[in-house]
Order: sequence, then C-alpha cells, then structure tokens
Amino acid sequence: MSSNAGDSITFFSKESINCPVCGTDFHREDMRTGRGRLIAGSLTRFLRRLYEPTEKYGEVYPLIYPVTVCPNCLYAAFPQDFSNINPKTREALEGDIEARKKSLKKIFPELDFNKPRNIEMGIAAYHYCILSLQHFPKDRSPTVKSGVSALRAAWLCEDLHRKVPGEHFDYLANIYYHKAWFYYTEALNKDENGEEGIADAGQLGPDVDQNYGYDGVLYIAALLEFLHGPKSNPEQRHASLQRAKTMVGRLFGHGRASKDKPSTLLERAKEVYREINQELKGNS
Ligand SMILES: [Zn+2]
Repeated sequence: MSSNAGDSITFFSKESINCPVCGTDFHREDMRTGRGRLIAGSLTRFLRRLYEPTEKYGEVYPLIYPVTVCPNCLYAAFPQDFSNINPKTREALEGDIEARKKSLKKIFPELDFNKPRNIEMGIAAYHYCILSLQHFPKDRSPTVKSGVSALRAAWLCEDLHRKVPGEHFDYLANIYYHKAWFYYTEALNKDENGEEGIADAGQLGPDVDQNYGYDGVLYIAALLEFLHGPKSNPEQRHASLQRAKTMVGRLFGHGRASKDKPSTLLERAKEVYREINQELKGNS
C-alpha cells in the first residue's frame, strides 16, 4: 500500500468491507482515475480496451481490480453482489473455502490479497469469482457473469504470457476462453428459455470501459463459438459455424433495429459474419 496518494495507480479504501462468508474485515484496492494514468489505445476484436503504457506509471491493467476478493476465505464477487447474499449462498460459500484455497495453489502458490494486485492476482480474482458464482441464485445472472469473468481471465493470461513466455500461460488462456465459450453459450440458452435472464446483470462489458449489454453478449458468444468452439469433427464444426452465424446475424439482420447499436459493434459483427461465411463456403 502506497501512502503517496498522488503517485500511485491504486489506493485501498478507507472504509473496511466485511466478508459475509467468514466475517473478516478488509480494505478494497481501487484504481485512481484521471491525471493521465490511463491512455486509451485500440479496441481488440473481443472489445477489450488496450491502454498505452505511460512514462510515469508504466503498464496499467484496469481489468485486475473490479472483483472484490476476501483475502481470508477467497470468496470473490463483483461489487454489487459481494455483500448481498442469501443464507443458502453464504452457507455453500463457507463450505467451499478449502476448495477455493486449493484451486490455484499449483499455478499461483503465493497470492496475498492483502497486498496490491498484479496480473496473477487479477486472473485469480476472476477464477475465485467463477467458483463463487456457482452458488448464486438464478436471479443474479451467475452464468453470464461467469462468462465475462472467464473471458477477462483469458485476456490477463495472454498479458502474462507476453511478459513471461514459456510458462504456459497461453495454454491457460485457452482454457479460460473455452470456459467463456461454455458460459456465454449457456447464458444465451438460459435467457431464451426463460430460466435465467441476462438483461438485469448490470455491467456486462465485456471490458470495464463500456457496457455493450445483451448485444455484446451475442457478439462475444458468436466470436467465441467461431474461434473456440468445437473444431476437430467437420460436422460439429459446420453446426458450430451455423450457430455462430445465426447469433452474430441477429445483430444487424433487422435493418431498423441495428440503427441503435454502436457502429464499433456492428462493424465487428459484420466482419465475423463474413469470415464465418467464407469458411462455410470453403467447406461445402
Ligand atoms: Zn471471507
């Protein structure tokens, strides 16, 4: 924790947060904004905002801070969910404490959430968030939130791979992309059959700088299906491409409706649609 407020990227909240699972009081680390700390760069295909390193602060990763993590029991959730859990969820989260503590021990043996976060802790925060969301009721949209968490964990694994190549973080990124594919697909299915909604889930990003809402979920689900869906079996691949095409097509298929959608999303959706078509034609 740095006490030199003006020069640090983050600060720990003065007010403590009480963990509803284990009762520990802790202080949450948050990012300071403004004063040239963040210089926005390009937007990736996955709608991830990249940031230019600055001379004063170096590389900055806003993605590693949004999840609140209890440093004692590793219960993790997005801020709007963290304190507000029902007794059944609480009990299940308490029963899982050892499982959470063991789950990343081999990959990241020495994480301490009392300390300022690094990329490893950012990945772990999303990992614990997915584990914790398993116990959330359907009205909190745990499936789509797990999708967003897995996708961001994949991005951070790619960042880590660039910093320390040869440690197999690219492999870990693929595992999280695959998890993201699974959760995004499930979230859309559950939304369509009325089992679990997406619309009220809050900030769906996928990144922290903007909320593309339901349309963003459709687009990311299609892109994940295209890039990380089943590939080895040609028949499965064909079915997967058709699914992706239908999903992404919904974003611009109805002339009038697409007027309200951000052009960044529409342009990318059309590009993915074209690529899927190309592969479908090549295979027929
Ligand atoms: Zn706790």
